[in-house]
Amino acid sequence: METRVLIVDDDTAIRDAMCKYLELVGYRTYSAASAEESLELLREKKIHVVITDIMMSGMNGLELTDNIKKDYDIDVIVMTGYSGDFSYEEAISKGASDFVFKPIRFEELHLRLKRVLRERQLKIERDQMLDKLQKLAITDGLTQLYNSRHFYNRLEMEISRSIRYGNNLSLLLLDIDLFKDYNDAYGHLEGDKVLVRIGKIIQNCLRQLDSAYRYGGEEFTILLPETKAEDAYAVANRIRKLIENQKFFPDGKKEVSLTISIGITEYCPNEDAASFVQRADKAMYISKKKGRNSISFLLAQNPS
Ligand code: GH3
Ligand code: MG
Ligand code: MG
Repeated sequence: METRVLIVDDDTAIRDAMCKYLELVGYRTYSAASAEESLELLREKKIHVVITDIMMSGMNGLELTDNIKKDYDIDVIVMTGYSGDFSYEEAISKGASDFVFKPIRFEELHLRLKRVLRERQLKIERDQMLDKLQKLAITDGLTQLYNSRHFYNRLEMEISRSIRYGNNLSLLLLDIDLFKDYNDAYGHLEGDKVLVRIGKIIQNCLRQLDSAYRYGGEEFTILLPETKAEDAYAVANRIRKLIENQKFFPDGKKEVSLTISIGITEYCPNEDAASFVQRADKAMYISKKKGRNSISFLLAQNPS
């Protein structure tokens, strides 16, 4: 992609010479005779780097740098004469990325420009890497749902929100039925494929505020903020039915079905996260006892 450089100088000869040189070494250049004019150009064009003189009538180069840094994420290199009244420190403190002395030595300017651009590229790559690592740290590698570490973080967050605003907060705990038998019969790899598919089904059933997690081996949790247990039931039942109707072909021929058991509970104000999760787990076990492929509620005041 071409790099667009804007030269700001009230001296036409300097401006033209700089543009000519920078075009020759491969940049797309724009020029402005004043800070005011350059701000107008910045509004119209996507500029990557501004190189500005400091001493100009009207707004000076440092004020311009200040203004640019307030509104744009653009690198600014400032130019000044040796006798200039401005220091390197002043320019950097306004947010300039570099500083060159006049008369400009073009090769030096080119090197500084390349350094500024390289630093920007490195910063972009570093931010992308950080973003990727942050996602990895909260994602379950197999199902791509959030992992249990993130579950506990979000759980605490949603609990404080529920306490602060008095909203309902529901929790689903899902466990695949007789999954050990499936693994024993068809192998762990086939079992993993099931987990991936069930993860996708769960993800597709979520509403805007809901979030799903791989809580343990073959157990999943779903947090449903601003949701009463009765409404959480609708989500749970949709997932239960979808999974019941899935067909798996672990050995390529035979059609196999699986089911899940679900526990639902609602947060009870001022209880801790652990007792909230334990209750969802107990509710899930009630579903197991009922014969699996079912959904059970367990509310704090009214165990059933
Ligand atoms: P229940 O209906 O009582 O839940 O029976 P179950 O067999 O599902 O329960 P149990 O807790 O005895 O076994 C869970 C099984 O889940 C054990 C293991 O084979 C399987 N499992 C757990 N994590 C993974 C995983 O990451 N991949 C695969 N393929 N299987 C897993
Ligand atoms: Mg289990
Ligand atoms: Mg199980």
